[in-house]
Amino acid sequence: MTLRNGKEFLMIPGPTNVPEEVLRAMHRPAVDIYEGPLLETTGFCLHGLQRLFRTEGKTYIYAANGHGAWDAALCNTLKRGDKVLVLESGRFALGWGEAANVLDLDIEVLPGAWDKGVDPAHLQERLKQDTAHEIKAILVVQVDTASGVWNDIAALRKAIDAASHPALFMVDTIASLGCMPFEMDAWGVDVALTGSQKGLMCPPGLSFVAAGPKADLAHETAELRTNYTDWTFRQGPEHYQKYCGTPPEHLLFAFHKALDLIFEEGLEKTWHRHALLGEATRRAVTVWAEKGAVDFNITDAHARSNSVTVVRFNEGDVAALRTFTKEVCGVTIGGTIGELSGKGIRIAHMGHVNAVMLLGTLSSIELGFQKLGIPHGRGGVQAAMDYLAGAL
Ligand SMILES: *Cc1c(COP(=O)(O)O)cnc(C)c1O
Repeated sequence: MTLRNGKEFLMIPGPTNVPEEVLRAMHRPAVDIYEGPLLETTGFCLHGLQRLFRTEGKTYIYAANGHGAWDAALCNTLKRGDKVLVLESGRFALGWGEAANVLDLDIEVLPGAWDKGVDPAHLQERLKQDTAHEIKAILVVQVDTASGVWNDIAALRKAIDAASHPALFMVDTIASLGCMPFEMDAWGVDVALTGSQKGLMCPPGLSFVAAGPKADLAHETAELRTNYTDWTFRQGPEHYQKYCGTPPEHLLFAFHKALDLIFEEGLEKTWHRHALLGEATRRAVTVWAEKGAVDFNITDAHARSNSVTVVRFNEGDVAALRTFTKEVCGVTIGGTIGELSGKGIRIAHMGHVNAVMLLGTLSSIELGFQKLGIPHGRGGVQAAMDYLAGAL
């Protein structure tokens, strides 16, 4: 028997649910790329990105996924052979480091773990040893969707300052922008990047980079520039230069609408919604974990993301649970990847998500535990509701 027919939810950490308004914004003919409404859309999106990243810096739009933004950030600021320090915490910072390796950059990984955030003291200690300032850039993710960790970017900046180190500070906010506070200028981030398909509620296919003054300066002598990613060309006077060719028009219409939705809600309120949904999820997981079969991947409660919660299974059939929630209940929840592959689930609560979607998802998981005989504390959903009742 299935109860799946009805509105289906996609609760994976990207791509995420695209609002109907955003889908409808794309349903229109292509337009002129040299004049008319597209120019206004470009201006709105570039400025909207400054508001999202909280920066006065320059913003760039790429017809690419997050991996494309990784390349753009590196190519525009670094020289062949430069040393880059990658702060490990889950999968994605390492992936960015692998991209840097392909560009002939010299990668050093500051070892971290899959169950906690980057330790600022550890970073400070490593930077202090680098008296010759060989490290030219530091790469970190704010939220890692593989491990579910949230890194404290402001604290990492303080560690860099405490070591008086001049390296560029580059932050991947693909799984956090529009979900959790990010203050590019106030936190002294030199390059920030994100993608369209997670907290920003758009289809995959756009990515965004913001560059502060220190990054602009580094750009002047960067040696790895490519035609497509080059910031100098994109700063040129012609509209098509902003995209180095034909703009991805329909994705831009989508992004314009998504920005409208975020600014109508209010960015701080968007963060707050994610904080409530994230904590409600954690309350449920805390109860489920009472029987020892499942638990949080991130051991440090302070370092759990508000956009995704990763739950490890010590026993119980993960695949059967995900099949049950999808085929019987109509909600797709994420499987774990990388080192945790097959060992747990990822519950995304990022982007276009409300209480119905979250509580429905948590209920489907709890129903799955019950149906499949996976040991769990009963009343996880009740705990989520108790929390929300007190917090609203
Ligand atoms: C999803 C994700 C990426 C990869 O983005 P793609 O669009 O798949 O290239 C990179 N970093 C983080 C933190 C992510 O969550």
